[in-house]
Amino acid sequence: MGKRLVVIGGVAGGASAAFKAKRENPDLEVVVYEKSGWVSYGACGLPYVLSGEIPRLEKLVARTPEEFRKQGIHIHVHHEVVDVDPELKTLTVFDHQEGRTFQDRYDYLVLATGARPSLPPIPGTEQEGVYTLRSMENGESLLKALEGAQRAAILGAGYIGLEVAEAFRKRGLEVTLLELKDRPLPHWDQEVGNLLKEELERHGVEVWTGVEVKALRGQGRVEAVETSEGVVPADLVLVATGIKPNTLLAQAMGVALGSTGAIATDERMRTNLEGVYAAGDVAESFHQVLKRPYWLPLGDVANKHGRTAGTVIAGKEARFAGVVGTAIFKAFGLAVATTGLSQEAALKEGFQARKVFIQSRDGAHYYPGSQPLWVELIYEEGTGKLLGGAVVAHGHGALRIDALAALLHQGGTVEDLLSLDLAYAPPYSPVWDPLLIAAQQVK
Ligand code: FAD
Ligand code: NAD
Repeated sequence: MGKRLVVIGGVAGGASAAFKAKRENPDLEVVVYEKSGWVSYGACGLPYVLSGEIPRLEKLVARTPEEFRKQGIHIHVHHEVVDVDPELKTLTVFDHQEGRTFQDRYDYLVLATGARPSLPPIPGTEQEGVYTLRSMENGESLLKALEGAQRAAILGAGYIGLEVAEAFRKRGLEVTLLELKDRPLPHWDQEVGNLLKEELERHGVEVWTGVEVKALRGQGRVEAVETSEGVVPADLVLVATGIKPNTLLAQAMGVALGSTGAIATDERMRTNLEGVYAAGDVAESFHQVLKRPYWLPLGDVANKHGRTAGTVIAGKEARFAGVVGTAIFKAFGLAVATTGLSQEAALKEGFQARKVFIQSRDGAHYYPGSQPLWVELIYEEGTGKLLGGAVVAHGHGALRIDALAALLHQGGTVEDLLSLDLAYAPPYSPVWDPLLIAAQQVK
């Protein structure tokens, strides 16, 4: 009889692990338990369902439960794993629909329990009209709330706050974005934050930075946000102040966490417990610039984790090559892409980090419709080693970031960047690519 793989969590990390393991070794018996009613979907698309650009939540689903079953994977939604005994290799599962508890067993276990929103400790968040955005269920609730809403306040100008500010404006709401730090996207450098602030304000978003939220006011239904800078009336509040990995189950069974607070794994996504793997937002990755474990809770990373774990469990060779911290998002007309370390982060890490920031264009100056494009390069003084970078553009030109990400992964320098043979034609780039123009500015 084939061995039994149990996967806990059925979204990006869990679904990738289950499908890959089954494909590579059809003799494996694969079981997935998912607490919610949805599996294998792209949470990354949620802001675009909220904006109305994508007509229905169902469009975000990559594989339905029927498709799991067709591949021979036993999928159980509304089933929560509440306990695991790693000695006996058994687990306790609660079926939320039937209201019953039962036992199961595993030879291999994948922990793909993801992450959850981290709420700031402020009074009033339990009221009606206050939302987070993580899951399809959250998306469903927010879609309903949008029907009657007029004034939204968003706490946090990170990825979710910035993407959803655009979605809410597209739905005709007045939007105030409230950020604790001194700029939008505060994990990146000031110049990018300035570009974002201008773009948000141009599209009618009120941006309050360096603001402390004291309480959400209301009598059971939210009416306003009380802050250090004044009161913001709001009938809908989205709390987007970051996330935390769901590690409770892992900790209870003795799985070791790393210094980041997420599950520590090796390159094969193995944890400290025999037969137990971790994948997705619940797990750490190895950062190739910092040369240490790092928590990068992103969808593409979760898929790679899952694929690696599934392959290894199927008895084949795979290693996850780690991350350099590449991300991209859209805020109205701007695409903002970053990789590696910001200058601020690099200095904090003890690098002699310097930067150049340039404005160029996404096409030849004479080509109709070419638009401004900005590049930031962060490098180590003396060695010229690349540490990070950002590209901000009015569209796909921001994907130039991938050339930088590839160089960072190889430990490349500014000299290496200067020697790259990059693509050129007037509709897509000036004759000197903006990445090369930035590299030429390095003294
Ligand atoms: P999750 O998606 O959190 O899934 C974990 C699942 O495990 C959950 O469904 C949960 O119900 C289940 N679970 C937890 N505990 C148990 C248990 N005990 N028993 C059974 N089931 C359990 N990333 C990008 O790279 N690019 C983007 O553009 C992007 N945009 C995003 C936009 C939004 C609005 C959000 C919310 C996220 C976005 N992300 C993006 C991040 C990306 O969605 C996540 O990295 C990805 O969903 C992680 O997948 P996961 O499977 O690790 O975790
Ligand atoms: P985030 O970490 O990106 O941003 C949280 C923001 O909230 C930060 O700017 C922080 O300074 C601010 N903040 C913290 N406490 C606050 C407070 N009390 N008041 C006001 N502001 C406060 O987290 P997020 O936006 O919640 O997104 C969660 C995760 O979702 C991200 O870490 C990312 O993994 C993922 N995501 C990625 C993308 C993408 O890659 N395009 C898009 C959306 C979400």
